[in-house]
Amino acid sequence: MPLVADYATALIQFVTPTPANGAIFAYLEDWLASRGFAAQIIVLGDGDAQTTNIYARRRAPGPSDRSNRCLMFLGHVDVVPAVSSATERWRHDPFAATVEEGILYGRGAVDMKGAIAAFMAAIDRHLHAVEESADGDIAILLTGDEEGVATFGTRPVLEQLVADGEQWDGCITGEPTSVATVGDTAKHGRRGSMHFTLEVLGVAGHVGYPHLAHNAAQRLADILCSVGTWQPDQGDADFEPSVVSVTDIRVGNLARNVVPGHAEASIACRFGAVHTPSTLVASLVAHLSTYLAVETVPAEARPMPADNTVPAEARPMQGSHTWQAGGFAVVLSYRLSSAPFLTDPESSFVRSVCHAVETVTRSPCALRTTGGTSDSRFVRMHCPVIDLGLCNASMHAVDEQVAITDLIRMEQIYAQVLQSFFAA
Ligand SMILES: [Zn+2]
Repeated sequence: MPLVADYATALIQFVTPTPANGAIFAYLEDWLASRGFAAQIIVLGDGDAQTTNIYARRRAPGPSDRSNRCLMFLGHVDVVPAVSSATERWRHDPFAATVEEGILYGRGAVDMKGAIAAFMAAIDRHLHAVEESADGDIAILLTGDEEGVATFGTRPVLEQLVADGEQWDGCITGEPTSVATVGDTAKHGRRGSMHFTLEVLGVAGHVGYPHLAHNAAQRLADILCSVGTWQPDQGDADFEPSVVSVTDIRVGNLARNVVPGHAEASIACRFGAVHTPSTLVASLVAHLSTYLAVETVPAEARPMPADNTVPAEARPMQGSHTWQAGGFAVVLSYRLSSAPFLTDPESSFVRSVCHAVETVTRSPCALRTTGGTSDSRFVRMHCPVIDLGLCNASMHAVDEQVAITDLIRMEQIYAQVLQSFFAA
């Protein structure tokens, strides 16, 4: 098997459900040290939340006071659970890394141990090509918690590294971004994520006397129909129109003969950089104000009590608005999970990465901002970042898989990215 497939096999065979700890980090530390990287294992949190991360930098030979350009590779070694259901079964042990007819099966094959393997093989190829003439630094940051709550993953590790004086000039995040063929799509930005809770408080009563009650469930259903017509924006050149989904409705009524006095729903919104988190909230507040025929919002946004265990700039934006309308109180609470971000598609970094991909694949590399978010959102404050990885069709799915030819193509692309970055 080619080297990149050996690396992918070795990584998949470490069983690393999120948050990952343990032997995989020792394996990586050894590998990095043998290639001249100075590696440090960073363990944060404790108990069930304990998360291991590894950061390594390979300094180009030369005077130690010289500051070299540095390309970082960002990734995660944790994986989502590999469970079979009543309707879907894994054909192969998800951690055996079985190869069948040129396809490597296993949890993490594309998300994202396959990409890490490709980056390792690309480093080997690059170092072999440049030998002592290397004039740039290569860094690699791998977290053990990207798929989970990620409290002790990339964000705090980056903060610690920046405080220690680390700097980078560009970052490739190995999330699976490709669609039909490897390298056909990269992501130069990601949508933001906002969670809303809509609560209706009415008056409970007897179903035989509904005129004496204010039915919160019925009122919530009406309001949610209106939320379904809310279009936050039309999108722009970089982002598709923002989307909204009702994800849960809770009444919790224990009796069939009671008109419920309380009901609430959860609403998820994925939004582009057309909006800031504040203008997104304002847009929904204006929409609901119109629907509820309340001209002025009686209560201003009131911030919820701050969680003082996290630094102010890292605290999520949250708050609520309240309306009194037609005998009901309607409360909209919001909590920002992540803000949208964008790396300038015309920047020299993005152009150089796309050019490198196209040199290898001989077909266009499209830039998109669709799908979920990634840890690139934590990097973007420190250097330009782009997500570029394997095909995403089987990520998080039963029988997650990658073609060996795709791994080889990914290795070639990363090697070309390294070469182009340092040639610039
Ligand atoms: Zn991933």
